[in-house]
Amino acid sequence: MYSKNRIDSFVKHAPVLKEIMDLKPVIWLNPNKKSKAEMPAFPIKKEDMEAAAQLWERFAPFFVKAFPETTEANGFLESPLKEIQNMKLLLNKESEQIQGRFFLKCDNALPIAGSIKARGGFFEVLHYAEELALKAGILKKNDDYAVFTTEKFKQFFNKYKIGVGSTGNLGLSIGIISAKIGFQATVYVSADAKKWKKDLLRSKGVEVIEFAGDFSEAILAGRQKTNADPMAYFVDDENSHELFLGYTVGALRLAKQLEEANIKVDSKHPLFVYSPCGVGGSPGGTAFGLKQIYGDNVHCLFVEPTHSPAVLTGLVTGEMSNISVQDIGIDNKTEADGLAVGRPSHFATTVSGHLISGIYTIEDEHLFKLLAQLMDTEKIFLEPSATAAGLVGPQMVAKTDYATKNNLKMENATHIIWATGGDLVPNEERKMFYERGRSEVAN
Ligand SMILES: *Cc1c(COP(=O)(O)O)cnc(C)c1O
Repeated sequence: MYSKNRIDSFVKHAPVLKEIMDLKPVIWLNPNKKSKAEMPAFPIKKEDMEAAAQLWERFAPFFVKAFPETTEANGFLESPLKEIQNMKLLLNKESEQIQGRFFLKCDNALPIAGSIKARGGFFEVLHYAEELALKAGILKKNDDYAVFTTEKFKQFFNKYKIGVGSTGNLGLSIGIISAKIGFQATVYVSADAKKWKKDLLRSKGVEVIEFAGDFSEAILAGRQKTNADPMAYFVDDENSHELFLGYTVGALRLAKQLEEANIKVDSKHPLFVYSPCGVGGSPGGTAFGLKQIYGDNVHCLFVEPTHSPAVLTGLVTGEMSNISVQDIGIDNKTEADGLAVGRPSHFATTVSGHLISGIYTIEDEHLFKLLAQLMDTEKIFLEPSATAAGLVGPQMVAKTDYATKNNLKMENATHIIWATGGDLVPNEERKMFYERGRSEVAN
């Protein structure tokens, strides 16, 4: 616990913390951002990201066979990059100008898992499965990985267990892929996890164990139970390198899409990327990858709900994962369930602290409004945590001196809103979210 004195001294150092504690939407520009030349060495390197991309390539034949919906893309899991001109027009009508081009990276439509967790979560399970098979001598790296769909392999993996603590999407991704490989999978969820997610997992043969309390407690219980079993492996959202690596590959894929669309990123053409942030793994991995590719010409911002500013609190105070939002009196209650995180990932936050340009926060009501507006203008549904919240990023940055200070030609900017989930959400839920958003629009 943090004493009142301690918190007061944080506030004195960084007055924005007072506004964060008062649940006001804020934008914080990162004073510790390093340029490419000053970047410290990280535990993860560019070569690790490239090796991760190769793992995905080895598994492509597995995906074609196990998930026929990936056949058309030759077993690659990728999502479209879509220019959202109508939404830009609407936003520009309401307030400050969005300059430059405005895109949505549609990870809400990633195959199989319908969320960005298909990058991190799938990667970690595939990485573990490959390692087990290599060690057991039943696989070589140049084999055709369609072999992972054989009965022999399934029986081999059925001796092993995978556990994960999750409010939803991480559990979904880990559960779905683990069950397909043949692992015995257990997902530990918090009390507020959505019923349809639990039902979906159980329908795939995944064990779902529910816990009272929030996400951190579900993780804690899951970690203890899983680690006590020598045949079990725990996917640890609060400190995983593998999850992070899986997300970095998204940056390589985006770079390819930008190149194919003839979109320049250089000192005269800045790239801005806005990512919704929970523990900080997915936005951190994406930012790490983009920085490796574009260096100082990419500007990464995270967005968190005003009630769950976990990474923001960790970075503003410098306490990283030692501090939780509850420590500064914030309740961690938001409808954006994928972002309802009180304490950031230690590993991801330490890395992001050097990379990102800033973090802004958004209120739930605003989030629902944007969700409805995106439906109306672009016919794209995002779940609340996939947050449409990224959509106001350019306007938030425009309120600051960031562009002038960094000498950026904003008329040449490309803005990418990273949409992170939505496709698996059932119709009745979508309608509810949309209607709530419509009533916010009317207000
Ligand atoms: C998990 C998730 C995020 C945030 O990712 P973190 O790694 O927790 O920061 C954002 N959006 C959706 C839809 C998610 O499922």
